[in-house]
Amino acid sequence: MSIYADDVVNFTSVLKIAYNFLTGREYLQKKKSNERKTLISVASGFPDLVFAADSIPVFPIRMEKFKLNLYLLALNSASGLFGWNLTTKLLGIVRQIDFLKIVDNVLNDVINSINERYNKLYDLAISKNVSSDFCFGIKSIYGMEVSDANNCDCSLNFTIRCKKYNQYLKSLKGIIPNQIWVEIPSNDKEDKDKSLEIMVDNIQKAIVEIENITGNIITDNSLNKQFRIGNQVKRYYKSIIDEISTSDFYPCNPATFAEILALLTISFQDYNSNAQRFLENISHLVKEMRERIEKGVGMDVSNMPRILLSPIFNGWEPATQEIIYKLGGRVIYSDWDLLGLLEEIPVSKDSNPVEEYARFLLNSKNNGLLCLNNCEALINSFQNYIKKTRVNGLIINQLVECHKDPNCYDLVKNKIRTNLRIPTINIKFKKLGENIEQIKAKLNPFMGLF
Ligand code: SF4
Repeated sequence: MSIYADDVVNFTSVLKIAYNFLTGREYLQKKKSNERKTLISVASGFPDLVFAADSIPVFPIRMEKFKLNLYLLALNSASGLFGWNLTTKLLGIVRQIDFLKIVDNVLNDVINSINERYNKLYDLAISKNVSSDFCFGIKSIYGMEVSDANNCDCSLNFTIRCKKYNQYLKSLKGIIPNQIWVEIPSNDKEDKDKSLEIMVDNIQKAIVEIENITGNIITDNSLNKQFRIGNQVKRYYKSIIDEISTSDFYPCNPATFAEILALLTISFQDYNSNAQRFLENISHLVKEMRERIEKGVGMDVSNMPRILLSPIFNGWEPATQEIIYKLGGRVIYSDWDLLGLLEEIPVSKDSNPVEEYARFLLNSKNNGLLCLNNCEALINSFQNYIKKTRVNGLIINQLVECHKDPNCYDLVKNKIRTNLRIPTINIKFKKLGENIEQIKAKLNPFMGLF
């Protein structure tokens, strides 16, 4: 994995996001016991309603205990004394005499630690008899909920994946009795107004349930406040994807860049439980990236084809980004942008925030969010996205054991290849580290096409 820590040790913002991810357990325990905050599991993403209820969204893997890289530990202790910026500079110097290579492995350790945990949660789900017929996403999220989510007071679920996934989550009522479900109408035959009406109604019901559980009222103001923060986060996130990832000069090695995109994909699900803090970190990240580019610190990537690898939010093989790098390409992960989740939610004095949120969710559904349920929507969204971002190639990440519409992956691949005339390929994913050799074998001839 990341052998490019040279790049990362000076990215204060990346280290902070990584640190916040890995130390979620302690942070969340404090929020719960000292500040009496309600913790709400958001395994399907969408933390806005929870933030608006002055409560804490938790992507449940963050309740797990992670091995913390010594560098990150030292960094955090020292940052209390010197501040993060000075501390990273100091540790940049320490790195010169770091014979144990603790610093060099920092991002590698973070990603490995998260991946190891994902696989353990997958195994836990199997040991709890989750049928082998279902994808890595179902198994790992089921494992997360069984493992530690009982520390959450409630779970908030949006019906964005298949029915089987929903059934599995519903069967966890014994662990988290309070489950709130927000149905996103999937019936394409409904007319637009009707869908909007149903969506608004479903959000309103969820708001009442969240208020009952948290004891906090969700107001138009609290929703708008959260949307404003969310909109800024999305703007920065889009700058990284639309502006920096398309440039000919990267602020770091492309494999490191892909790791940063991967970390953002995971973190966006609950904004590391603190939207304001995440906003500061991601704005700082954009600033750091731009500064490095301006100073010429980084790498000329003008000859490296940009390869979109998607969808990854249900699990993918992270070794792929390094394989592609070694074969001369650069990987882009941008599921949330592709699926419309980085669209801003309009906020104004006269807007109705629930209705705006409903439009936002319906728009995501139309972009194919319902987990390949609507293949046509997914094809359109891939086509539009590839035209807009001008990536040079597409790798479809095909989840083995996804029982739904097995033809959809092939359809997307073939349509994009024919209509947009760019190389496309499917790679299969079952479990982390399991089929790296097959992936390599497929990627070799594919990368030869550029
Ligand atoms: S549709 Fe497939 S990938 Fe999506 S949750 Fe269901 S089994 Fe997993």
